[in-house]
Amino acid sequence: MGEEAKLPTNEIPAGKDATIDEMVAFFRGVGAKDECPICKTDEWTFPNRDYGGVVYLQNPPSTGPMMAVAAYLMICNNCNFIRLHAKKVIDKKIKIISEKVADGK
Ligand SMILES: [Zn+2]
Repeated sequence: MGEEAKLPTNEIPAGKDATIDEMVAFFRGVGAKDECPICKTDEWTFPNRDYGGVVYLQNPPSTGPMMAVAAYLMICNNCNFIRLHAKKVIDKKIKIISEKVADGK
């Protein structure tokens, strides 16, 4: 048995943020629906757009090692339901989708 996996501490993914077009391509690629799960409309806002629409979900320091998860945040224009997608996963899949498109696959 190897060493136990350690939780990342103070880990905030670096690098560029996905554009809205790249996120739409990602959602199409994974078969995600456009409609809001609460009110069924399909119009969303990226409220933090100047910063790539990215937010950081962070635990309070008193609960253990500082840990933050970067996420793309979207808000339903009708009912204001908040939707989050893990940035690290989307960014990785966007890279794969982009490479497939470049290879013509
Ligand atoms: Zn809604």
